[in-house]
Amino acid sequence: MKKLIAGNWKMNGSNGENKQLLSGIAQLLEQIPAIHKHCEMLVCPPSVYLSDVTNATKGTGIETGAQDCSHHSNGAYTGDIAATMIRDTGASYVILGHSERRQYHDETSTMVSWKASSAHEAGLKAIICVGEKEHEREQGIECEIVKEQLLDSLPDSANADNTIIAYEPVWAIGTGKTASKDDVASMHSFIRDTLKNNIASGENIRILYGGSMKPENAGELLATENVDGGLIGGASLKADHFIAIAKAAI
Ligand code: PEP
Repeated sequence: MKKLIAGNWKMNGSNGENKQLLSGIAQLLEQIPAIHKHCEMLVCPPSVYLSDVTNATKGTGIETGAQDCSHHSNGAYTGDIAATMIRDTGASYVILGHSERRQYHDETSTMVSWKASSAHEAGLKAIICVGEKEHEREQGIECEIVKEQLLDSLPDSANADNTIIAYEPVWAIGTGKTASKDDVASMHSFIRDTLKNNIASGENIRILYGGSMKPENAGELLATENVDGGLIGGASLKADHFIAIAKAAI
C-alpha cells in the first residue's frame, strides 16, 4: 500500500502563494519520480482556493482535499460548504474532526460521523482525525480517549476505500513536540486493533501520523509499523520540506 503524504495548509496562503507552493512541489516531484511509486500526494488548501489548486494540480499526480465539510447536503446553512460542492471542485478528500475544529468549533465525534457519512455519499474520502490532549496522556487515558473518538466518529459507511484515520496527539500539533517512535507504534497498533474489531476491512484502513512531522523525524515515523503516511501542517507549507518528508517514505 502506498503511503499517503497529506499537507494540511490550514488557514494559510493566497492565490499567489498557493501557485508558488504548488509549482515548487510539482517541480521537486518531477525530479524524484520514485516518490509517486511509493506515495500518494495530497494537499488540502482552504476551500475558497480548492478549485484553483485542483486545476493547477492537473498532470502532477497531486490530489486535493478540503479541511472540513458540512453534514447538510444543501440549503439555508450560511457559510457552510456541502461535501458535494467539494467533490464538484474536483477534490477527492476531506479532513474531518481535526483537533482545531473540535477545539474552536466545538465539533463532537458524533458531528464528525455525520460529516463523514455526507463525504462518503458525495464520493469523497474522509480523513478522520483523532488524538488525546496532553493532560489525558499524563493521566494514562489516551487509549480510552482515542477509542471513544474512533467509534463515535466513524459512520456505518466507513471502509478501507473511503476512510483514513489520522492519529494526531493534540499536544504535538504545531508545537514542535513529536510523539516518540514507541508511543506512535503502540497507539497505531491499538488503533489498528480497534479498527479490525469494529469496522469492515478495518485491517486495511490507512492510519496516518500527524503532529510536528518534519524532514528530520519523518523517516523514523513513516517506517513505524501501522504508520501508513503523514498528515503534515507547518512543514507542508514549504515545498522542499514537504517533498523531503515524502522522500523519507521511499
Ligand atoms: C496538523 O495540522 O494536522 C498538523 C499535524 O500540524 P503540524 O504538522 O504543524 O503539527
